[in-house]
Amino acid sequence: MSYVSASAMAKAAKAGHYAVGQFNINNLESIRVIMAAAEEVRAPVMLGVSMGIARQLGGYKTIADTVRNVLEYDGVTVPVCLHADHSTYDAALEALRCGFSSVMFDGSRLEIEENLRLTRQLAALCHAQGVSLEVEVGPVAGKEDGGAAEGELADPVECAAMSALGVDLLAASIGNMHGAYPPDWKGLNFPLLHAVREAAGEVPLVLHGGSGIPEESICRAIELGVCKINVNSECREAFSEATRRFFLDGLDQKDSAHMQLITLRPGLEAVKAVCIEKMRLFGCAGKA
Ligand SMILES: [Zn+2]
Repeated sequence: MSYVSASAMAKAAKAGHYAVGQFNINNLESIRVIMAAAEEVRAPVMLGVSMGIARQLGGYKTIADTVRNVLEYDGVTVPVCLHADHSTYDAALEALRCGFSSVMFDGSRLEIEENLRLTRQLAALCHAQGVSLEVEVGPVAGKEDGGAAEGELADPVECAAMSALGVDLLAASIGNMHGAYPPDWKGLNFPLLHAVREAAGEVPLVLHGGSGIPEESICRAIELGVCKINVNSECREAFSEATRRFFLDGLDQKDSAHMQLITLRPGLEAVKAVCIEKMRLFGCAGKA
C-alpha cells in the first residue's frame, strides 16, 4: 500500500468536521500498536517522525521502508500518512527524498521573511511530488522554553502570509504547548484561533501539544477549524506508567526467557488505549 498525504486527510476531516490524530513513533513496536489502534476503530492516521527519532532508528529511508513493510505484513487497510514532524529545511528535503507523504517545515523560530522564503521553495518541491507541507507560525512553547502560563501566540497577519503560499496545513500557536501544561495554564486562546482561521482561509489548521488539553477545548478547537491534532506526551506517559508498574510488580522475574518481549507489552497496550481514546474524541474513528 502507499502512503496518503496529510492534505487529502485534512481536507476530508475539514469537510466532515473532525480531526485526524498524529501519533509519534518511537520504535518498531510503537508503529504496530498505533496502526492496530487505527485498524480497530477504522480511523485514518498520521505517524509522526521527529528528527531525533529518525536519527535513532537509522534515518528517514529506513523508517519509510520499515513502516511500508509493517503495513503490508499486518494487512493494514486504513489510510496512513507518514509525516516528518518539526523538520529543518534540510531534514524536510531528506524526508521528501525518502518517500514520506507529508513533511512539516518548522521555521517558526526564524524571522518571518526567512520562514516565508524557505516555505515557498519547499511548497514547490513537495507539491511536485504530491507530498503535503505543514508549516508553523509562532513557535509552540514547551518545557524547554520555561513554559509561560499563556504559551506563544501567533500573529494572524503572518498566518495569512503563510497560507497565501499554498501550504497544505498551518500550525499556529494559540497558547498550546508541548509536554505537560503548567498548573496555571490559561488554556487555548479561542478568539485568536478564530482570527487565525479567518486569516488562513481554506488551509486546514493543526494543533500541536494535544496531550492534556481538556476534552471540551479539543471539541471547540475542531469546531473552529482544527483538522489535525498531534499527540505524543500522553502516549509516552501511559507507556512509562504501565512499564513502571510491570517492574514494580516483579513481573519481569516470572518469565525471564521471554523477558525482552513481555517487558514492552503492558506499555504498548497502554499506548494503544490512549490512541483509541483520542481517535474517538477527535471524531476520526469510523472515518476510514
Ligand atoms: Zn509539535
